[in-house]
Amino acid sequence: MSTTQPEQGSSARLLDALYFAAEMHRDHRRKGAIAAPYINHPITVAHQLAAAGMDQNGDLLIAAVLHDVVEDTDTTLEELGRRFGPRVADIVGEVTDDKNVDWRSRKRMVVETIAGKSREAQLIKLSDLIANVTDLVQHPPNWTPEHQSGYLAWAEAVVNAMAGVHPALESRFADVFQQVRESTKTAKRA
Ligand code: ZN
Repeated sequence: MSTTQPEQGSSARLLDALYFAAEMHRDHRRKGAIAAPYINHPITVAHQLAAAGMDQNGDLLIAAVLHDVVEDTDTTLEELGRRFGPRVADIVGEVTDDKNVDWRSRKRMVVETIAGKSREAQLIKLSDLIANVTDLVQHPPNWTPEHQSGYLAWAEAVVNAMAGVHPALESRFADVFQQVRESTKTAKRA
């Protein structure tokens, strides 16, 4: 008989992660025109992965829900490790940019290092980019055309650097990428 706490079921852990992320991001808003609550974003990133067939990978979905908490809040990887287990903390660590490095170098490092990361980290990054580029189409933020095209070129370079990780999600990225390119052309013509 074990005296340790009973193992939490996977839905309970996922709900705990959602609760935790919602608390941590409670004062954050997305950059788009409608300034949606930030938590919509990690939910979308996790949901896209579940819907693409990864609904049985609990650590992946939990890490997807938590993927921005270390980068954007006071949460530490140690805290995530204690609450959600070492695997989740490792994956979140892999997708967390080092904020001590300037923005440009940080972005370049993602392109240079993504191929060497775990499959889970790559899948979260891919889903993150699909969500971000979809937001550019649906709720365009107030970015200059230069900033937007710089972001898109970077996103495409990241996805190219991990080519083959998940063909269905990659083609979804290619679709939204195409859409945002079309909508920018239309906006320019208008
Ligand atoms: Zn994100």
